[in-house]
Amino acid sequence: MTRLREEVKKALSCKRVSWALTRFADNYVVAREKAYAGKDFAVLRQRVAQIKEETIARLEELAEQFVREATRRGAVVYRAASAEEARAYIADLARAKGIKTVVKSKSMATEEIHLNRFLQEQGLEVVETDLGEWIIQLSGQRPSHLVMPAIHMSRQEVAELFRRQIGVEVEPEISQMVQLARRELRKKFLSAWMGISGANVAVAETGTVAILTNEGNGRLTTTLPPVHVVVVGLEKLVPRLADIVPILEVLPRNATAQILTSYVTLITGSVPAVDPEGNYLPQKELHIILLDNGRTRMAADPVFREALKCIRCAACLNVCPVYQQLGGTFGAVYTGGIGVILTAFFTGFEEAAQLQELCLGCQRCREYCSANIDLPGLIEELRRRVVAKKGVGPAARVALAGILPRRRLFHGFLKTAARMQAPWVKEGKLCRLPFFPELTEGRALPPLSSVPFRERTAHLPRPQSPRGKVVFFSGCLIDYVFPGIGEAVGRVLAAMGRELVHPEGQGCCGFPAWQAGLPGTFARLAQQNLAALAEIEAEAVITACPTCTVALKYLYPEVLKGDAEWAELTRVLAEKVTDFSSFVWERREELLPFLAPIREKITYHDSCHLKYTLRASCFPRELLLAGGAELKEMEPAELCCGFGGSFTLKFPELSRAILERKLQAIEGSGAETVALDCPGCLWQIGSVFSGKTKHTAEILAASLKYPQAP
Ligand code: SF4
Ligand code: SF4
Repeated sequence: MTRLREEVKKALSCKRVSWALTRFADNYVVAREKAYAGKDFAVLRQRVAQIKEETIARLEELAEQFVREATRRGAVVYRAASAEEARAYIADLARAKGIKTVVKSKSMATEEIHLNRFLQEQGLEVVETDLGEWIIQLSGQRPSHLVMPAIHMSRQEVAELFRRQIGVEVEPEISQMVQLARRELRKKFLSAWMGISGANVAVAETGTVAILTNEGNGRLTTTLPPVHVVVVGLEKLVPRLADIVPILEVLPRNATAQILTSYVTLITGSVPAVDPEGNYLPQKELHIILLDNGRTRMAADPVFREALKCIRCAACLNVCPVYQQLGGTFGAVYTGGIGVILTAFFTGFEEAAQLQELCLGCQRCREYCSANIDLPGLIEELRRRVVAKKGVGPAARVALAGILPRRRLFHGFLKTAARMQAPWVKEGKLCRLPFFPELTEGRALPPLSSVPFRERTAHLPRPQSPRGKVVFFSGCLIDYVFPGIGEAVGRVLAAMGRELVHPEGQGCCGFPAWQAGLPGTFARLAQQNLAALAEIEAEAVITACPTCTVALKYLYPEVLKGDAEWAELTRVLAEKVTDFSSFVWERREELLPFLAPIREKITYHDSCHLKYTLRASCFPRELLLAGGAELKEMEPAELCCGFGGSFTLKFPELSRAILERKLQAIEGSGAETVALDCPGCLWQIGSVFSGKTKHTAEILAASLKYPQAP
């Protein structure tokens, strides 16, 4: 077992973390929607993205302007190239001023440079004053969330911590604990000579830093001590003061579903102050450290520069199914999907190389991101770079690079496996997998079919006078595990007067190779499939698997765009490729007369690619409703089922933990049948759900009035 998998198992054993994070996440989604009432999130985040794109394009110019403007207004600006330089500057400053006590407000940049430990080693007393950060400091842990660092700790744990570390008994009541914290921290504020804060925005035009907080500690840290040090990453720069507004509109809503944080502090230059001994100071010392630490290198990277648009709202963490289970284990200083990318540049490639494996590619974070960052795409790119540098493991090399692109060998392998699985199949279910016993722990998987779909097509009903021809791309799961879905597609299309053609030369869509970071293997499979599919003149190319649709429609053009011979073919194919439910919904008038009412209570599961990439999850719902089904939505329907292709093989326990949440949502709906459009999700949910799990095509096909095509 790899070290990462051991850490995952350890994190999963602490139920408190996932309980707190999932409870927060469920409330967050609803509250965030309310917070955006009357606002257009798409427009707002586009504005944020534009501002940040301008920042990245003009990074050095804006940094120089910021230095000029802030200096003109009495600040001292230091440009730190590395964490070491930033730490040394602060330590030297404290030493030069004879400072003994430092208070800090919440700052991820200071976490990034491991400032506390360094200053403490220099003999300084460093006190975090954000309540969550203070709790984390007292407990000796590291923050588990960008915005809510101690979200994983219970009230009881915090009360016990206070008893141990401060020597004060306190009831595990939030109000009492806050009172205690306030009493303890006030003493520190009044005696500290240096306050250290981060900043959410740094304005080049005016040399202003903006700080958004919910606790008064930010104001106290930045105003009471006579020396204020701001540590701010270069990417927090914006060109103009007015650019703060869209960030203010999005950041609190996306972070904690608040319309605005309790405090918004703009600091422009140095102001008078009073020191802890009551002496009037005509000018407070304001030091601003503009931190690079990998950011310039990131800005120079044509792909990863996108991550510098991040405004650290943490929405991507809030909605990430992996983060909800693992908390801080999914990341280093910065956590979640964005944490993986930042770790690669700010901390080290090796650490990020491990962490990237934890992303199952559900796409949900992209949907919620304040700056429209394609995080799943960036993680895929990181994976490709990891594989280019280190290669893949021997099993993946044999299976993905060796067998998968050799269609006959691959299909021969599947047929042999279908024959050999008999000892482990009971009542039509695979109860134990010889090489992956964890996968069948507490559940039964669908076995490989002894007769794949490709050998069943001759028996499909055919319309007597076809209105057109459609090519069906089945994908491996439908071809070899769920051929019944392919047959259902054939029956529905026949009822609509379409002749279904299943080209023999098609194989795996290649997504497993793409997901594993093997674009070369993926391109080879893309070419094989293109050659097979392009042979036939057809109205459309239909798939009943959203992942295959995404591969054919979006990834083939992307991966073959540099090859003139294939580029045109991929373009033509991409226009014709559609998923089953979208195709049928667009032509529903041709089907509905042939449907008997669907008499089932159905809940619909949103497959990630259907919802977030194809944006087509409304069509199967509409079809089922039009067919007469009683649709009972699960809350929330968009929760990932935890399949993620090879993810379920690599991290079976984690995949199962994510699935558990899905099951709770399904069972809460009171439906007897789960409908979905993805065979991968069917594989995952169907292995544990005691009710029925069916593809939309199967439900429609079962309701056809006539067994044969009209
Ligand atoms: S794609 Fe899904 S699993 Fe990956 S980081 Fe984003 S939300 Fe998390
Ligand atoms: S990546 Fe996007 S969602 Fe995540 S913290 Fe950054 S801005 Fe927020």
